[in-house]
Amino acid sequence: MQITKNAVVSFHYTLNDPEGNVLDSSDGREAFAYIHGMGMIVPGLEQQLEGKTAGTKLKAEVAPDQGYGEVNPELMQKVPLDRFGGQNVEAGMQFQTPDNMVWTVVEVADGHAMLNGNHPLAGVTLHFNVEITDVRMATADELSHGHVHGPGGHHH
Ligand code: ZN
Repeated sequence: MQITKNAVVSFHYTLNDPEGNVLDSSDGREAFAYIHGMGMIVPGLEQQLEGKTAGTKLKAEVAPDQGYGEVNPELMQKVPLDRFGGQNVEAGMQFQTPDNMVWTVVEVADGHAMLNGNHPLAGVTLHFNVEITDVRMATADELSHGHVHGPGGHHH
């Protein structure tokens, strides 16, 4: 069958940045599985998978506005270290604020931490190499739960 709304799609992938660095890959793992049309993967990839069938290999280039978004300069914030309640703050640390934003400490200098609230892949053009391994319709349970059951999905 062709990939259409509410299809469960399983695929192996490698994700590269424009310089060819591997950002993520399903290598050595089960194929990634998602329900098509529910916004579970980046929009640009979901669009390019539409209508494809199991066994298809494709390359998909996804611009930031169809991927993880452009970098928002307002999400780069310099915060005095005394605002962290005495905890040790180091570059690479991540924490979540009550509004569910995840912030990464980019740099600590001069008594301040530079925080980045953008997605780590914001502003990056994504280069996917995809091999679709399975396409089937989602079950009623999967649609009501909003996730895939079985290989590559939830086991419960
Ligand atoms: Zn479930």
